[in-house]
Formats: sequence, structure tokens, C-alpha cells
Amino acid sequence: MHGIWIYSEDISNTRQLLTAGRHLRESLNQPIGVITRDTDAQSSLVALGADQVIVLKGESSWPESYADEIARIFEQDKASVLIVSGTLRGKDLAAKVAASLDVGLVTDAQSIKVSDCFIETTRLMYGGLAVCTEQVQFPAIVTIPPRSYEEPQPDESRQGNVTVLNVSEWDTRVTVNEVCPIVCQGVDISTARRIVCVGRGIEKQEDLTIPEGLAKVLGAEVACTRGIAEDYHWLPEERYIGISGQKVKPELYIAMGVSGQVQHLAGIRESKVIVAIDTNEKAPIFEAADYGIVGNLYEVVPLLIEKLQK
Ligand SMILES: Cc1cc2nc3c(=O)[nH]c(=O)nc-3n(C[C@H](O)[C@H](O)[C@H](O)COP(=O)(O)OP(=O)(O)OC[C@H]3O[C@@H](n4cnc5c(N)ncnc54)[C@H](O)[C@@H]3O)c2cc1C
Repeated sequence: MHGIWIYSEDISNTRQLLTAGRHLRESLNQPIGVITRDTDAQSSLVALGADQVIVLKGESSWPESYADEIARIFEQDKASVLIVSGTLRGKDLAAKVAASLDVGLVTDAQSIKVSDCFIETTRLMYGGLAVCTEQVQFPAIVTIPPRSYEEPQPDESRQGNVTVLNVSEWDTRVTVNEVCPIVCQGVDISTARRIVCVGRGIEKQEDLTIPEGLAKVLGAEVACTRGIAEDYHWLPEERYIGISGQKVKPELYIAMGVSGQVQHLAGIRESKVIVAIDTNEKAPIFEAADYGIVGNLYEVVPLLIEKLQK
């Protein structure tokens, strides 16, 4: 077996995956190859740890079109492992590559390491209530969600091979007729440093001025639970946090009127400081919180804003 390969359609995810790749390289003593479609990033990828970079050039704008080529590279190299960014697209592509090579696939791994002669991964189960440890035989494909690893430190003195590969053949059963970008309303909360999250403890849409007021004094972003976005449509869908929404990692996360069901907690577990305000002292959010205030948000939050303004 030879080679640890990394692929993502997003270059910042590729950089983060290089940290996982570097850990594997220490154990396996095998080179890291990066497959990318980004023509500008080759040298920075080498500085971050890649020993080889293959830039796929082709006219298809459907990322999965490149699955056959990625499978070919993996097979030719007799590679040990392919790490793919666990985005929706990445998981589609990983499944295609795994099926065509008939190798094991683990999705949504939070961590990856070598254990004896296996790849060992962990991932959250039951909405984050349990951690599942799995072992998969070499060769294997593993998807890792974005932001599971920090980017490594660059070393500009590193040397690596860069190859450009023109891809002219792909599966033509799917063609892309049009690409329509989603218009995001506001910032990306997955990168916010402070978050004020509102749940169904808020009674009406007009009352969103309360979390907005707190967010303003804190320099935070307003986020919400699923019901607020999907059922009430009071905030855009990209603002809801949880297992089926955004995963966040802020320094400060304040929940108001959020009960803290597992599906929501799965999205906030990596927050540094969690503060909860809820009338129900038995609400599960208090088990996850570093600081809790049992009280009515309509009374507590205006007082907090007043204090913070002072
Ligand atoms: C498959 C699946 C996936 C899901 N994915 C997600 C997800 O990604 N994200 C997500 O958020 N949910 C998700 N859910 C829904 C989740 O199970 C919960 O229903 C949801 O998170 C609850 O939202 P909430 O806390 O806003 O509402 P509730 O559970 O209704 O809680 C409201 C809270 O407000 C408190 N409250 C009421 N009035 C006040 C007041 N005046 N002051 C202070 N506190 C007050 C109550 O005591 C209560 O604790 C999912 C569910 C399923 C089945």
C-alpha cells in the first residue's frame, strides 16, 4: 500500500484535511497526495504538507464527473486511504469512488488514525449522544466534515511534485444545465465568533428584536433552532443550528428559549462557552451549558443588554 490521498472541491477544506493527512503520514510513513481542481493553490498545498498535487482540469462543472479519474489515481498509486471532505458533494463523490473500487467507506468521521493494520475513525451517533469508533481495512475511503481539523502551519521550504491532468472523459448520464447560487441572507454563522441563538421560547416574530438587541451589544450573530427557521420561517434556513443545520464553533454561544434537544446540541458541542436562558430548570440545555439562567427571556435579556451597554 502506498499513499494517502486527499480530495475536496473546496480549497479551505483541503487545507484542513491536510492536518488529518499529516497525522496519518506520521504513522504510515507514506506520502500525501492532494487532488484538487483549484489551479492557483498548488504551491500553498505543498507548503501545508502535500508531497504531490494533481490538478484536475476539465470542462465539466459537475464535481462528481471527476470520480472516475480520482478512482483511477487511487488505484494506480495502490493508495492506502482517500480522505474526502464530508460535504454533500464530497459524500456523493466518495460513495462513487468507493463503489467503483469496491473498498470500504466511512462517512462523517470526526477523527482518523491508524490502529494496528486498520484505519480507525470516530463519529457522533444519536444526535451527538454517543461516539462510535469504527475500524476499516486498508485501502479505505473516509469523509471528514469541514472544520473537524484546523489548518496546519505552512512550511514554505517544502518541495513537492505538481501535475496537471486534463480530464476529457466522464460519465455523461448527468449534465449540468444551469448553476444557481443560493442567495445567503447575512453572514455564514458557521464561522461566527459569538452567537445568540433563539428558540421557540420566543412568542412572535416581532420579538426577534430581543435576540437582535443582545447580538448587537455583543457583536454577535443571531441564529435559531430548526422550528424557528423551518416551521415559522422567522429566520432564514442557513441560520439554524443542529444536526440537520449548521455546526458552529463560536467562542460564546447564548441560547434563549432553546430546550436543548440532542439534534440541536449536536451543532453546538464545540462552542467554547455555552450560556442558556430558559424558564424550565429541567431543560436539557442546562446540562450542556457552562452558565445557566433560569428565567423568562423577556425579563432577563433586556436586563442583560442594559448591563452590557453600561
Ligand atoms: C431528524 C430530526 C432532525 C432535527 N434536526 C434539528 C436541528 O438540526 N436543529 C434543531 O434545532 N432542531 C432539530 N430538530 C428538532 C429538535 O428535536 C427540537 O424539536 C428542536 O430543537 C426544539 O427547538 P426549540 O428548543 O426552539 O423548541 P422547544 O423544544 O419547544 O423549546 C422551547 C424552550 O423555550 C423555553 N421557554 C418558553 N418560554 C420561555 C421564555 N419566555 N423564556 C425563556 N425560555 C422559555 C421552554 O422552557 C423550552 O425549553 C430535529 C428533529 C428531528 C426529528
